[in-house]
Formats: sequence, C-alpha cells, structure tokens
Amino acid sequence: MVDRLTKERRSWNMSRIRGTDTKPELLVRSLLHRMGYRFRLHVPDLPGRPDIVLPKWQRIIFVHGCFWHRHPGCAQAYEAKSRKLFWQQKLEGNAKRDRLICAKLRRMGWKVSIIWECQTKKEATLERKVGAIVRRLGHQ
Ligand SMILES: [Zn+2]
Repeated sequence: MVDRLTKERRSWNMSRIRGTDTKPELLVRSLLHRMGYRFRLHVPDLPGRPDIVLPKWQRIIFVHGCFWHRHPGCAQAYEAKSRKLFWQQKLEGNAKRDRLICAKLRRMGWKVSIIWECQTKKEATLERKVGAIVRRLGHQ
C-alpha cells in the first residue's frame, strides 16, 4: 500500500472494495432525499454499478473519490511517492475505466453526472453542485 494514504482515503477505498456506502455518497443521497428526489442505489444491471440512479429522469450520479478516480486539477489527486509507475498505471486505469463506463451509459440514453469527494466537504458547495444537477432534470 501507499504510505501516504490517509486513514480517510483508506477507508474510502475499503468501503469501495466491500461495496458499502461511503460518507461522501451518503451526504449526496441525504441531500437529494431532502430535496424530494427518489432514486435507486448501486444498480447492478447497469455498467459501472452506478451509485445513484434516478430512473424517472434517466439520470445517473457517480460520487467519486478524488484520489482513486483522478479528479482533474484537484489537490487530492496527487501522485504517489513510492512505486510511482505502479500507481500511475493503476490510477490511470481507473480513470480510463470511468470514461468508458460513462460513454457506455450515455450511449444507452442515460445522462451522467459526477460529484467529486472534495465537493461534498462543504455543505454550500455540495448544495450548489447538487442544485445544478437537479435543475438540469427539468420538471415533470
Ligand atoms: Zn477533488
């Protein structure tokens, strides 16, 4: 393992591996819920087993960890200090996989949004981000 992994990031990773819920994801879900939206979770029959699916709006939301999913330009997506090449390949592989999954979902007619872990840290930022996604849903 990388020595620079924080406890928080490690637990994110472990929860991803176990397929349980992460804190950033829970924050997004509870906000959406408060706004009155209903959704399905970790839908296994869709590519990438999306975190949050709003079937009524054909909208998918992924809540991505900045380190593991390579948030562009984010300080949390720093390079590993040790075993550099190994991590570079692994993390680039993650990002490439994400792009493929998004493209696949879009071809299937889904609209895909990504909320980054760092955008869930401050309530106001998260509200703005989720608000922007929700506004694009339109009214039905
Ligand atoms: Zn980030």
